[in-house]
Amino acid sequence: MPAESLSHGEKPRVRFAPSPTGFLHVGSARTFIFNWLFARHNHGTMVLRLDDTDVERNTDASVQSIFEGLRWLGLDWDEEYKQSERLDLHRKAAEAIFAKGLAYRDFTPAHAGDDNQSGSQGAWLFNPGMRELSREESDRRAAAGEPFALRYRVPRGTDRTLRFKDGVYGEQSKLADEVEDFALLRSDGMPTYHLASCVDDADLRISHIIRGQDHLTNTFKHLLIFEGLGAPAPQFAHLPLLVAPDGTKLSKRKHGPVVSVTTYRDAGFLPQAFTNFLCLLGWSPKNDREFLPVDEIKDLFTLENVNRANAVVNFTEEDPFDAKAVWLNAEHLRALPIDELSARLTPFLVEAGFQAAPEKIAAVTPLIRERIRLLREAASAADFFFLEKLPEYDPKELVPQKGDAALARRVLQHAEQVLATTTFDHASLEATMREAAATLGLKAGPMFQPIRVAVCGRKNAPPLFETMAVLGREVCLERIQEAVSKLDTLA
Ligand code: GLU
Repeated sequence: MPAESLSHGEKPRVRFAPSPTGFLHVGSARTFIFNWLFARHNHGTMVLRLDDTDVERNTDASVQSIFEGLRWLGLDWDEEYKQSERLDLHRKAAEAIFAKGLAYRDFTPAHAGDDNQSGSQGAWLFNPGMRELSREESDRRAAAGEPFALRYRVPRGTDRTLRFKDGVYGEQSKLADEVEDFALLRSDGMPTYHLASCVDDADLRISHIIRGQDHLTNTFKHLLIFEGLGAPAPQFAHLPLLVAPDGTKLSKRKHGPVVSVTTYRDAGFLPQAFTNFLCLLGWSPKNDREFLPVDEIKDLFTLENVNRANAVVNFTEEDPFDAKAVWLNAEHLRALPIDELSARLTPFLVEAGFQAAPEKIAAVTPLIRERIRLLREAASAADFFFLEKLPEYDPKELVPQKGDAALARRVLQHAEQVLATTTFDHASLEATMREAAATLGLKAGPMFQPIRVAVCGRKNAPPLFETMAVLGREVCLERIQEAVSKLDTLA
């Protein structure tokens, strides 16, 4: 939906309206982000509204999890509301719609599907017995305390077509005759999602409703409610569904933790990388770039660039994260200033049980930055910096490819000697070790491999001299001596 669809000078007001019935779903996070991008791109207002009228399904834990997830994403909002604090408004609106003759009381014992958000067609379109009840009888039964649901009196037999232009999916239409008489109030007096949502959207002067495609068919009901309220309908834009590799809608029940935002946080995604990834699920910039900071996405973002096709989140049982998400995370990690990355890595190192001074983490960070894709991987990439004792390794690793244990021993013993006196900084270590190689008549490879394995416990490790400088003389010498004794075990 182009910003031009706003009247001149008017700033958009959008809302993110999660129902606190579970953790923050990746699809909800994407809806939040797209609303945020639209609001910020157009200098509008971002409203956060908790759709918490479904008292049976709401939980405090879910409210916490939603806020925790949103705070982690690090994107802000300007106004905050709770539907449960606005029930009077919803009920008054329902009364006003009823007073206009646009709704009727349904005294049938509670219907399943009263609060049907899914838009699925009920088994009935309207309840003739109740729709045609005279006002006198309806009033009499209500006064006698008989419980009732309040239903919208959808126009029947009029050939009326309900229409709207969706900002993503284009022209939409449906015959009013095909829309059931949906509930506005449930028999316990609570507003349904449809009523509460539209009343609040009208009252909060929401100009653009940007939400999941699963709400597209609900929009026809919402158009009727706005009409009943005498309020102009906002513009609508529905976002393509997020689906699993097999094409099924991403769901917590079916796909488990991969659907929860906190799973990404706990695995060590950076919020900016995760946001970048979510933006590419259904939206793409015209220039096909993928690695984008959120500020840049905000500048580029338009709803016209949102695709209609379902967006696939790729994962397998062994590999729970989409390869693109992981790649983007590695890119964002590398783009972070070292001190910020150090701060991000710290909780993961602490969780892995490493006690490390901030200065040490700061020194290690540039050495592992190119070697990790997720923050969590720092624990295994950097363990030898923090562990007092190296994990067991195969002494054969100490032996250079074209050499034997005797050569490895010679290298290590010579290194032990020269390292006892050299200064432990990058430049001195490099000069000393190159000189040592020359003394022994060795190339860099056979010289450095035994030392690398001795101090890191593996061949695949960060640059050697920087690593040794961080580890310090004492640790390096101790580990080299230990390596020498390990060589003894090789027959
Ligand atoms: N509470 C609804 C949901 O979580 C909001 C839908 C809407 O944006 O209207 O799906």
